[in-house]
Amino acid sequence: MTALKIAIIGAGPAGYYTAEALTASPCGHTVDIIDRLPTPFGLIRAGVAPDHQSIKAVAKRYTATAERDNVHFVGNLALGRDITLGELRTLYDAVVLATGAGGDRKLNIEGANLPGVIGSATFVGWYNSHPDFTDLNPNLHCGHVAVIGNGNVAVDVVRILAKTQEELAATDLAEHARPGLAGSKITDIYMLGRRGPEDAKYTPKEIGELAKLERARVLVDPADLPDASLDGTLEGPAKKTVPLLREIAANPRTDAEITIHLKFYARPMAVLGEDSVSGLRLERTARQDDGSVMGTGETFTLDAGLVIPAIGYLASRIEDVPYDPSQGAFINTDGLIEPGLYCVGWARRGPTGTIGTNKPDGSEIAKRIMDEVQPSDKPGRAGLDGLIRDRGLKAVTFRDWTKIDAAEQAAAKQGAPRAKFSAIDDMVRVAKGD
Ligand code: NAP
Repeated sequence: MTALKIAIIGAGPAGYYTAEALTASPCGHTVDIIDRLPTPFGLIRAGVAPDHQSIKAVAKRYTATAERDNVHFVGNLALGRDITLGELRTLYDAVVLATGAGGDRKLNIEGANLPGVIGSATFVGWYNSHPDFTDLNPNLHCGHVAVIGNGNVAVDVVRILAKTQEELAATDLAEHARPGLAGSKITDIYMLGRRGPEDAKYTPKEIGELAKLERARVLVDPADLPDASLDGTLEGPAKKTVPLLREIAANPRTDAEITIHLKFYARPMAVLGEDSVSGLRLERTARQDDGSVMGTGETFTLDAGLVIPAIGYLASRIEDVPYDPSQGAFINTDGLIEPGLYCVGWARRGPTGTIGTNKPDGSEIAKRIMDEVQPSDKPGRAGLDGLIRDRGLKAVTFRDWTKIDAAEQAAAKQGAPRAKFSAIDDMVRVAKGD
């Protein structure tokens, strides 16, 4: 087969696994990975928790792909601002959308738009130095915070809010988030699940970490836990998380500055407050045999000066690309949107699975492209370079990124792996040596 010219939009895990599979072929396909940020690795840099450095180590694998001769990173080039999807499709044999799911699923209840309600994509982006969220300034002076959801993102948020400055020292937490978190006045964090412990989506390692925090204790109401005799019937992560919760409930700590309340069977009904959030009204739910829950009609309120819905993400829409709002992903058939246009990762299947789930996903899309797409005389990279030149754009190469990387590592303090830039202008200045 003759070599194909492929553009991948989005330099996160899905993009790099797809590029890895495409360029492993002996056919010499060339891949340009385009990202609106001057930095590669997407969710690894802006989503994975700053205290989970071992997960971030997978970036080494993406670097090995990025350094292949037939792979090029084109950063600081935004689809819709600098170039259109239509233009890319005239330049490349195939275009793959690996744009992830960077938006928050909306909490559709009364008061959800009040100031002080901050979706997890925004909050996580803020503490991870994503340039879009640098100015967030969340209220960490309130005593009580409510985190809605029982997934791993909710657990990440709770853990970062509860950790001490010392526990956060050797992380790549955003520099702008350090003073606020260090001076936080939070005493109570409520993590709210609308279903029960056996239906929570978080995984054992993550929930186990909450029980090991220096200044925080975890409270679980034993009445919410299923009978221990049923442990053998539990499925999925609950096989381990429910016994872990039972252990936590049986040995509550008393000496802690912060209390993390794991509240189950609590469905948010309304966010309370006049000019900003002051609390939540919730309805107690009851589990049905099929694992779903029903409202009991019994309601209660919680005080909270900050509410963080961590209830899932949505892919950002792209003009003219069919989109399924219920799934929060592009409409596709096994990754194919229409001939020559594909999607992969969260943009394809919605925000589920681990980083590693993107590997088979990327291989599958790469195979599809190699099976289906015919080579042409489209200009590929040469055409893109011409367009970047004509428009006077400051695209960032992978070599440029290594300068940003080196500068961040050089600025690191107190055992931290790096001190991240948060402004695009600063990144581009360093990248271009301006
Ligand atoms: P998630 O795992 O889908 O969890 C979303 C949570 O929000 C669920 O508990 C869900 O409850 C709840 N929820 C949804 N809509 C709600 C509503 N309207 N009101 C109240 N609760 C609502 O999503 P996520 O936590 O955003 O994580 C996304 C993916 O990234 C997951 O695959 C996750 O495992 C992965 N991730 C992994 C790590 C890690 O490995 N350390 C870290 C972060 C994220 P129901 O179950 O009742 O729908």
